[in-house]
This record gives sequence, C-alpha cells and structure tokens, in this order.
Amino acid sequence: MENPDDMVYTQARNRLYSCSSSQGLDVSGANSFEKLQRTLSMELATESCTKECDHAQDRTVPNGDSEENFALAANDADSRKEILYNWSGIKCIGRRSQILHPKTDVEVSNLIKRAKSKVHIVGSALSYEKIMTVPLDDAEARLLSLDQFTGLISVTETTVTFGGGTPINDLVSTLSKMDRMLGCSLGVIGIQTIAGAISTGTHGQGLFQSDFASMVQRLKVVLPDGTISTVTPSSELPLGAIITSMGTLAVILEVEVLTEPRRVFHCKKLAIPYEDFLESYDEWNRQFEHVKVWWFPETDLCQVWLVEEASAELSKEFLSSDRTVPVKVSGESDEMNHTVDKYLQAMSDDTKAATTSDQPQFRTVRRFADAADLVGYHEQILCKGIPVPQINCEIAIPLNRFQEATKALHEWAAVQPGRIHYPFIYRATGKSAAWLSPAASGPVVWIGFLVYVAEDGSVRSDGMETMKQLQIILEKFNGLPHWGKHYHPDVFHFGEHIEKFSEFLQLRRRLDPSNKFLSNYLEKIFI
Ligand SMILES: Cc1cc2nc3c(=O)[nH]c(=O)nc-3n(C[C@H](O)[C@H](O)[C@H](O)COP(=O)(O)OP(=O)(O)OC[C@H]3O[C@@H](n4cnc5c(N)ncnc54)[C@H](O)[C@@H]3O)c2cc1C
Repeated sequence: MENPDDMVYTQARNRLYSCSSSQGLDVSGANSFEKLQRTLSMELATESCTKECDHAQDRTVPNGDSEENFALAANDADSRKEILYNWSGIKCIGRRSQILHPKTDVEVSNLIKRAKSKVHIVGSALSYEKIMTVPLDDAEARLLSLDQFTGLISVTETTVTFGGGTPINDLVSTLSKMDRMLGCSLGVIGIQTIAGAISTGTHGQGLFQSDFASMVQRLKVVLPDGTISTVTPSSELPLGAIITSMGTLAVILEVEVLTEPRRVFHCKKLAIPYEDFLESYDEWNRQFEHVKVWWFPETDLCQVWLVEEASAELSKEFLSSDRTVPVKVSGESDEMNHTVDKYLQAMSDDTKAATTSDQPQFRTVRRFADAADLVGYHEQILCKGIPVPQINCEIAIPLNRFQEATKALHEWAAVQPGRIHYPFIYRATGKSAAWLSPAASGPVVWIGFLVYVAEDGSVRSDGMETMKQLQIILEKFNGLPHWGKHYHPDVFHFGEHIEKFSEFLQLRRRLDPSNKFLSNYLEKIFI
C-alpha cells in the first residue's frame, strides 16, 4: 500500500507535470529563479490540471523524499501556493514565506547578522534540492534569493564582473555583444546563476580548462557573521575554498571572471564502437579542445563530438551567415539511428508514452539521430541542452583511471541491461582551482548518468537503486560526486580523496561556528 505522504506528493506532482507537458512549456527563456518558478511551477498549480497518471503504481517517488520535504505539497491550491519548488516544479525547497529577496549588500549583511536560525541561498534551484532546503517547520529559517543581484557591473580588458544572481545565459549574451566569451567551457544549459554554477563546481568539457569556479578572479561576499568582504587570490580568505562551497561559507554578491576573445568552433560528430572509444578517448582529449562522448551500452555505440577552433575557411562561412544558429558543414549520418530507436522504444515501454512523444526526454534522445557536423559559436554548439526533469548523477574519476572504470561499467551494463534510458556521458576537464573540486588534484573524467522523472513525478522503480549502484562502482576508482547533483554522501570518502578537505572543514567551523549556513543534508558531510 502506498505511503499516504507519497500519495499526496504524487497527486500534487501529477497536476504539475501533466500541465507542463500539455502546455509545452519551454524553460529556456526563463532566466531567473522567480521566472522559472512562475513558468514551471506556480502557473501550473491550477485547479484545471488534475490529470492522474495511470501507471504511477509501477514507479517510485525518489528516495525518501516523501518525508518532511513534501509534507506541505498538499492537495489544495492554497497550500500549493505556499510552496517554493525547485526549478522543475517538483521538489519543495521551502515555504514562500521563508524566501527573501534583498536588494543591497547592506541588506544581505543585516539579514545575516539578525538571523535567528538557518540561512540558505538559492540561485536557479537546479541542484539536488536537499543541499539548500530549509526546514519547513522553522518559521525563522531563511532562504536568500540573489535575484536582485543581476547584470553587468564592470569590465576590464580580460575580465567582467556580474551580480551573483545573473543567469549564465544573460552573461553569455552580454559577452557576445562585446565579442568576448568566458575562458571556460559552458555546461549543457545556461539557466543556472553564475554564483550557483561556481558554488557547485559546474563544468563543461575540455582538458585545457576546468570549470566556472576556476575562472574567478574576485568575489564580493557576505560571511556568516555579516561581514562584507572581497576575496581574491591574495586575500586572507582563501579564494579556492570559497568558490566552490555550496553556500556553506559565504553569500556571493559579485563575481569577477576571466574572459577571452569569442571564437568560432567546428564540431565533428562521429559514431564509434565502444572498443574504439576505450582506446582513443585519452588521445582525443589531448588533441581537441572540447570532447564529449555519449556511450549507449545497449548497442555499444558512442556518439563522439570532437570540437576545435574552426579553420579560417569554415569560420568565414559561418561569419557570413546571420550567425544566429550553427551552420551544417556535412551531410546527415544515420549511423546512430538504430540505437536511438532502441532507446526511444525502451523509454516508451517504461513510461507508456509513444515513441513519437514530444516530451522533452524523448526529444533529447532523438537529437542523436541524423547527426551532422556543425560550425558556430561555443554556446550554440555546447550549451543547447533541453532541461528535462531528472535524477542526475555525475561522478568524477582521475582521468588515468578512465579505462578500468569504464570497463567496470561495461560489465555492470552487460548483466543489468535496460536499466538506464539515457547514455553515459563522458566529459574530461583539467585541474581545478577549487579546493573541493574532484579535479583539485589534476585532470578528471566526469561520468554522468540519469533517470528521467516521468510526467507523474516518479522514476522507474529500480531507478534510484541503479543510481546508487553506479555511484558505488565509480567510487572504487577514487570517484567523487558533482556537488550540485544527486549523490549518496555515505558512498564517498571525501576526506581521503580531497587533499584540502580537512582544511576546508576547519575554515568552515571558524567562519560559521553555529552552522547557520549549513543545510541539514550537508551536515552529513561537513560536520
Ligand atoms: C538539466 C540540468 C543540466 C545540468 N547541466 C550541467 C552541466 O552541463 N554541467 C555541470 O557541471 N552541471 C550541470 N548541472 C548542474 C547545475 O549546473 C548546477 O546544479 C547549477 O549550476 C547550480 O546553479 P543554480 O543557479 O541553479 O544554483 P542552485 O541550485 O540554486 O544552488 C546551488 C548551490 O549554490 C549555492 N548558491 C547559490 N547561489 C549562491 C550565492 N549567491 N552565494 C553562495 N552560494 C550560492 C546554493 O546554496 C546551493 O548550495 C545541470 C543540472 C540540470 C538540472
């Protein structure tokens, strides 16, 4: 029999989801947490959206999330209006009465000085929601949104300073107008805030760079005692500790990041068998600026993107177009199409939606078919993901353990066929400047895997177990999780594999002795 809390939660999400897909909502234009909330969540919680999902009994609510977190997700419109959801409108991160939108540095400082209980910070709420969820039963707990701290503040020849709450999409668009770009690779999407991206170690791909955090030259922050401070590579407060600290050390008000001239890139797309991927991945990464691989274990075929600066001729071809979209510079290849059909069928069997469904998880798999080489700007090629509600894990292992870790996943996939409906994603990055980054000691390969959250908000019944099994496998190769994605803290040995972990703990205790900034979830790791 279904747990009553789960039933309440499922009913609330059913309405949100059936509504979101029937209305064909696209979140790509929503560029702030409040806007995302409005687009994805609040507008959906209407009485008219009451369609139930007829296969909810085959699926489970993500791990233990029916507890406190969803107690408020009641089945009446008034209670739903009170709830502050994460970006996808499914997970509760607080009550609307707990969120504050300060407008000035001094306001942030005063709020923190006067806080009587927990203070957490939210950007676009794309991360695993527990890292910033405030206790719902604590009327004094506060969630700070930096959505009033947005936009360009200043420019130098090689840097720009933005408000911490600025969405990456806005930052990219502002830089484009200056014919400049960030000095690091972008992630798959751009709706996250710059402070959130830095704070979680968000990254793209490419061995010759690392992550957003490593681009930071200066931060303006408010510390847990309310002090407004500037952090640079030469300040007493270590920049490397603050950049990626999940809101546990400071509220980031302003971020100064390195920029470089904007360039045009050429993306070659290949369909490669698993064995060749295993053999050549390391070499590709040393040869090309950005390398991205999706390995589909069901057919052992990989789609490989090898991205480098475009030749003068190709660059000219793109620059003489209207430049709004990348230009195709090859014919379409159908080599991946059989694999794509197989995955669409499996997803359809699992979710009961037709393989032709326009739901975003179907669209995102379909994009691997009919692949063509492209020439365009970095963000047009590499930052065009479809943000699909999902339980998303990404584990980094040292790059030199790539082959053995991948073989272990291959063995797992052989005995557990059909467990994941999206390929494993491989992205290598270079050494990071952030103390807590899994790449703090040197190059890593990030291995991503996910289960989609269906229209009714559930995941397939073995989905969460699969996520855990894969984390356990990769931990054996000194794996460490992405701080902003789902992971089981008990699986990982942070102290063993992060050189400055104990230094970070000491600093955190010194800056925040009453654990004001530490969420209940992060206490498991940082206390
Ligand atoms: C569909 C999808 C695609 C993704 N793609 C990628 C990808 O390609 N690469 C990758 O590495 N990650 C990826 N992620 C993870 C995502 O990039 C991070 O979760 C995101 O960067 C967090 O930014 P945010 O603005 O949503 O921050 P939030 O999720 O709101 O917050 C994240 C953390 O940062 C803290 N924080 C936020 N703002 C501040 C501030 N001003 N000061 C101090 N602390 C703050 C919060 O307290 C919290 O601990 C993806 C996630 C999703 C859902």
